[in-house]
Amino acid sequence: MSRVLVLNSGSSSVKYRLLSGAERLASGMVDRIGEAGSPAADHGAALKTVATELADAGFGLDSPELTAIGHRVVHGGTTFTEPTLITEEVIKKIEELVPLAPLHNPANLAGIEVARRLRPDLPQVAVFDTAFHSTISPAAATYAIDRELAERLSIRRYGFHGTSHAYVSREAARAVDRPMGNVIVLHLGNGASASAVSAGRCLDTSMGMTPLEGLVMGTRSGDLDPAVVLYLERTGGMSPDEIDTLLNRHGGMLGLCGDNDMRAVEKRLAAGDPDAQLAFSVYCHRLRKYVGAYYAVLGTVDVIAFTGGVGENSSLVRETALAGLEALGIVVDPVRNRRGDRLISTDGAAVRVAVIPTDEELEIARQTLEVISRTNRG
Ligand code: AMP
Repeated sequence: MSRVLVLNSGSSSVKYRLLSGAERLASGMVDRIGEAGSPAADHGAALKTVATELADAGFGLDSPELTAIGHRVVHGGTTFTEPTLITEEVIKKIEELVPLAPLHNPANLAGIEVARRLRPDLPQVAVFDTAFHSTISPAAATYAIDRELAERLSIRRYGFHGTSHAYVSREAARAVDRPMGNVIVLHLGNGASASAVSAGRCLDTSMGMTPLEGLVMGTRSGDLDPAVVLYLERTGGMSPDEIDTLLNRHGGMLGLCGDNDMRAVEKRLAAGDPDAQLAFSVYCHRLRKYVGAYYAVLGTVDVIAFTGGVGENSSLVRETALAGLEALGIVVDPVRNRRGDRLISTDGAAVRVAVIPTDEELEIARQTLEVISRTNRG
């Protein structure tokens, strides 16, 4: 059985999982990279810790049984529409995309460079968060602004969380036995995004040029009148960096009620807290709007799939967001929903509603092996 090491090198952490098929052999995380007092001064040191932890678990990085390393890369722009075997040229192209993801792509690249130094002989594959969404039509991808300017600066909608949407849409279609079906995926974690998927192809997704667009998230505002940004700058006297922080890190549920963890919001809700009440209703209203929008994009819907920390665990979010949609054939069974069943719609409902735990690492490993076998065949 092929062994794949999946590396997710973020700006301040490296997460890893070693898989043999779907079996997890080892996993872990090195965090606080670069922080004062952290043993991992940089990504090089962090990956050395990963190598030591793997060796201690009996799976040294130098093992001949390791088939490949799969790297999560956040932004593939329009350059990378599928997982790609990493070469010097590929690294250069990922570097060129840094302006589109200035925090993420450099961290992803740091992980790739160190891993290539540690195992130069091993095939390594980049799996892009944006790639699954590369099939959205020009109508869905284009912002209605000056076209020449947009093209020159690569301003368009890319979408993110692609490996999760790919995995969950496939698993959801399988769960209801409709492999060629229409799926709405609601990935609700700390970040959140929705997608409309038809026969495995993504037709639209809620995140845009950056992960800020779309649903209300833990700390991101999601959709906003762009003139608010101008108003904040001109009238509020805020700098671009301050607005960035306001919308990306102090927005969403945190901005609305001071808590970005849905568990805490739900506790306050139960106690009748009005701020939590408003935050929760803004969150669910936005979600319902996207379900309606993607229903229209798809024409018919076979399954709505909830995933991510909130989507997998919050029966209240699932029930509230989908309430009142009976006329669309969407009816959640309260008992199944609260019990945490995989299928939570009523038996007669036209649209199935499913809870599908996401597994981005498994999907990255799967896509990595696909690239390796394609390369070997080619
Ligand atoms: P993720 O980014 O997918 O790991 O999701 C993280 C988020 O899931 C946390 O910020 C929580 O808000 C949410 N979460 C985790 N467990 C629960 C739960 N039992 N009920 C509601 N929300 C949850």
